[in-house]
Amino acid sequence: RKFIFVTGGVMSGLGKGITAASTGRLLSNAGFDVTAVKIDPYLNVDAGTMNPYQHGEVYVLKDGGEVDLDLGNYERFLGVDMTSDHNVTTGKTYQHVIEKERAGDYLGKTVQIIPHITDDIKRRIREAAEGTDVCIVEVGGTVGDIEGMPYLEALRQFAHEEDDGDILFTHVTLVPYSKNGEQKTKPTQHSVKELRSIGLQPDILVGRCEDKLDPETKEKIALFCDVPTEAVFSNPDVEDVYHVPLMVEEEGLDRYVMERLNLDGEALAPGER
Ligand code: ADP
Repeated sequence: RKFIFVTGGVMSGLGKGITAASTGRLLSNAGFDVTAVKIDPYLNVDAGTMNPYQHGEVYVLKDGGEVDLDLGNYERFLGVDMTSDHNVTTGKTYQHVIEKERAGDYLGKTVQIIPHITDDIKRRIREAAEGTDVCIVEVGGTVGDIEGMPYLEALRQFAHEEDDGDILFTHVTLVPYSKNGEQKTKPTQHSVKELRSIGLQPDILVGRCEDKLDPETKEKIALFCDVPTEAVFSNPDVEDVYHVPLMVEEEGLDRYVMERLNLDGEALAPGER
């Protein structure tokens, strides 16, 4: 089984969820059975008690699970039904670990974030991915948030435990324009530096920008972030988010992902569907 971990840098609301869902959609077009897991690093057990004015509408799943509206994007982009097991929250994870501690399941051990919380996170991801070819795991929030740290550590361990070639890290960042109209890569460089400081090296970088990234911008990102130029993709502003899969397909994201993960699928030519 293959896993694609999607993290975000610089700021939230960048389009990390849409990028993750688009990647999944292209792999599902190529014939793979794709699912997704959304990690929400908040202490709420689920989104059911959260103010919709602050957080957006609560999305209700088939099993009654009340979750973040990102799960709605995944269901629509991937055409699959998900359950509350596909939404991992800090509230759920801690509640489960603390219940086990009260029941004496840890046999007197000191219960800690590493390994007990990180083990529970890894278990949830593996269980949600069962029976599929590819699982896209989106980590909510931005790299560097205190709340997200146990998840990034869990993903680092996860990648260490799985075979090389089964895991890809995609990092989505903002590429702003300067006043003189240049695409600026510094925020991306800083955010990759932050990821590396916790032991994660991205394999793919996606730059959210008003327009497509210029070839020079891609080269600069590749050089500073230590990835091949063909691993840098654009996610430009579009009128309709359902066009994002087409935008990233045009740059060959699906082909690159399949090559890196040794997935023997048929990437469709742009426009062929
Ligand atoms: P994140 O996961 O980074 O918080 P989301 O994927 O939820 O971000 O997207 C945040 C908002 O930006 C959503 O309203 C989404 O529809 C919009 N969005 C995402 N990608 C694009 C794009 N390429 N062009 C225009 N709007 C986008």
